[in-house]
Amino acid sequence: MECELCGKKTDHLKKVKIDGAVMAVCSDCEKFGTPLENYRNSPIAKKVQSAPTVQVNIRQPPMHPRTPVKRTKKDVNIEELEIVPDFAEIIRLSREGIGLSQEEFAAKIKEKRTSIAAIERGSLKPDIKTARKIELFLKVKLVEKF
Ligand SMILES: [Zn+2]
Repeated sequence: MECELCGKKTDHLKKVKIDGAVMAVCSDCEKFGTPLENYRNSPIAKKVQSAPTVQVNIRQPPMHPRTPVKRTKKDVNIEELEIVPDFAEIIRLSREGIGLSQEEFAAKIKEKRTSIAAIERGSLKPDIKTARKIELFLKVKLVEKF
């Protein structure tokens, strides 16, 4: 028999692990490997044994953004704009400040007088589009971003 590492002929080959491979080696080369009987308990063996588990984790497909995430983002964009809580008072004071009646003001921004009356009472919250018109006309701030 020959040592698989140095090629020396010997009657007493011992099986050891060298770089993860089992080799039959002579007593001189034995020290380069890990004896098989101790191999299972060596730190290297534990590392090798745990490797398949690690590979499974690595091979899991990466998480892809799902549809609900996209929808949430869109909702947030819409909800970013909000009418200020005291819109009624701001509009009424600004309108009175430039000396317009509700009817005149409504005509200027192409809204119904009843709508303006309801908005100034605080019973109707203007939508963003209407609020933008009022903002431009009265030069006030009615829409705020969150
Ligand atoms: Zn040898």
